[in-house]
Amino acid sequence: MARRMLVAGNWKMHGVGSDLGEITAISMAAETENGVDVAICVPFTLIERAVAAAPGFAIGAQDVHPAANGAHTGDISAAMLAEVGAKLVIVGHSERRQAHHEGNAETAAKADAALAGGLDVVVCCGETLEVREAGEAVETVCDQIIASLPGSVDPSRMALAYEPIWAIGTGKVARPSDVAEMHAAIRARIAKEHGPEIAAQMRILYGGSVKGENAAELFAMEDVDGALVGGASLTADQFVPIINAAKN
Ligand code: PEP
Repeated sequence: MARRMLVAGNWKMHGVGSDLGEITAISMAAETENGVDVAICVPFTLIERAVAAAPGFAIGAQDVHPAANGAHTGDISAAMLAEVGAKLVIVGHSERRQAHHEGNAETAAKADAALAGGLDVVVCCGETLEVREAGEAVETVCDQIIASLPGSVDPSRMALAYEPIWAIGTGKVARPSDVAEMHAAIRARIAKEHGPEIAAQMRILYGGSVKGENAAELFAMEDVDGALVGGASLTADQFVPIINAAKN
């Protein structure tokens, strides 16, 4: 079975009520029978209003706590996210790994909590520039992703996102040959650890300065099943061309 493309936006710490019109416009553009799944992961404060602004469209969160509840000031549980209408959550984004010192085990625990709470997950991985320049990117990223996966690896409930850290928000996109090599290596490693069927169904997204102008080239690669998009997901004008590139 062919994998459906997934184009997911990550609004990071951007977006207030006056930006909800962008979500409505994006959801309308995505609402065609084209075989592409589209989602936007917004700040916690916007989830409920984004769901109301775009009924039926997949709204997600950008983080979740591994515990179901407890004394965790400032954190949020999967049940809380699901209650306000979130359908998915990003875990292990490099900005969480770097700024909040989240490691692979914590990322895996967050993915477990999300799945148990009824949310789908996007599990992120990616190397630093130093690791790439040292020629260790493929091994590092494959080890990272395997150690960040939840206990139950179900491709119908999750996607992986390869996001080279040096390409996020910098305008630098990884070379097509490097993206192709990395995605193929991740799929091969998933096959080794979890079996060829799971590997064949697992969606592997690319993230890192994806724009309307470079999306088609990325999506043409065999093992690229969509994108995780930061800056260019903030407006319909920039995000819809990426969705359209995935359709083709
Ligand atoms: C991201 O935040 O996951 C990301 C890829 O950001 P950008 O598209 O802005 O590089």
